[in-house]
Amino acid sequence: MNNYRLVERARLDRRNTFGVAATAPLLVEVPDSNDLPELFAYPMLRDGPVLVLGGGSNLLFAGDPEGAVVSLSGQQIAITADDGERARVRADAGVEWHALVLWTLGHGLAGLENLALIPGTVGAAPIQNIGAYGVEVREHIEAVEAFERATGAVRRLSAEDCAFAYRDSLFKREPERYVVTAVEFSLSREPALRLDYSGIGDELLAMGIRAPRPSQVAEAVCRIRRRKLPDPALVGNAGSFFKNPIVPQGQAQALKDAHPMLPMFGGNDDASRKLSAAWLIDQCGWKGHRDGDAGVAASHALVLVNHGHATGAQLLELARRIAGSVRERFGVTLEPEPRIIGARW
Ligand SMILES: Cc1cc2nc3c(=O)[nH]c(=O)nc-3n(C[C@H](O)[C@H](O)[C@H](O)COP(=O)(O)OP(=O)(O)OC[C@H]3O[C@@H](n4cnc5c(N)ncnc54)[C@H](O)[C@@H]3O)c2cc1C
Repeated sequence: MNNYRLVERARLDRRNTFGVAATAPLLVEVPDSNDLPELFAYPMLRDGPVLVLGGGSNLLFAGDPEGAVVSLSGQQIAITADDGERARVRADAGVEWHALVLWTLGHGLAGLENLALIPGTVGAAPIQNIGAYGVEVREHIEAVEAFERATGAVRRLSAEDCAFAYRDSLFKREPERYVVTAVEFSLSREPALRLDYSGIGDELLAMGIRAPRPSQVAEAVCRIRRRKLPDPALVGNAGSFFKNPIVPQGQAQALKDAHPMLPMFGGNDDASRKLSAAWLIDQCGWKGHRDGDAGVAASHALVLVNHGHATGAQLLELARRIAGSVRERFGVTLEPEPRIIGARW
């Protein structure tokens, strides 16, 4: 017996962290991913566009989704292998990401501590290879289980199969192909802490901690994030709206010569460099800017915010103007990080 739930003309306003209005023609809640083959036999899901929705913290509804919206709500977390040094943890797509981080730390498993407090679900974590404070989730992914729409089969993809890159993966490039049903992580009982990034070490010292445990690193990350990022429960946002642009080394050097303060990091390889999108946007004067209820956070130039009743289309329009001004002033193209639904970038 299946136990999924269908809702026609479902409002999605509370299912996206921008808090913008959107309506799905059909919303399907799926507690058990074993029901996916049966569900995807319905013509609307088999043949039409389908949006898989997690916590809605990395998308912008610039219009309504055209087809069905599927939300997975399975909540299982289990250790699937353990040799005393490393363990594998398998979590359903519907588990809240931060709850998984706390679960692993509570079981003495290190690796995900720098990724604490990222909003959203486990199923979405591999989609853009979530990353924060010097760590990307791909470093700890053993396999991704995914329902393949074309074949109706559940596949187990290795980290290599997922073709992870900076805020990118096979799933982000081909959004209609798979529904991620679970993720298996490989974690260690021997912590290899990464404290050199964005003030984690200083935060730990301020907490009076000199020899931190992984759970204390997670706590330091949470404190920094709470200070720096607007809370979507208070003001709608989707975290960073733009990826840091990766440009050829020659262009990066010319920009650095012209703007010595421009922050720059390693790129994909020796021939490229990653630039700080926040710095570029800030230089164009956008921090704290407001067009009605669509704005840029005063504390962070990368974060677009909904001050109340902005529509997704208004936020998209603001994002385009920001990208246009950065292109004009620096010759650098910004790409949005969230997925835009109902309009083209
Ligand atoms: C305040 C704030 C801070 C943030 N900080 C960070 C950060 O530090 N690092 C970072 O990387 N991100 C960050 N984000 C972005 C976001 O939290 C992550 O990208 C998160 O993984 C999105 O999860 P979600 O469940 O909300 O996905 P959704 O927004 O629901 O979906 C995002 C994309 O993933 C797809 N998707 C979701 N679930 C599945 C599934 N099961 N199968 C197939 N496709 C799926 C959707 O179709 C969509 O394309 C932040 C967001 C906010 C609001």
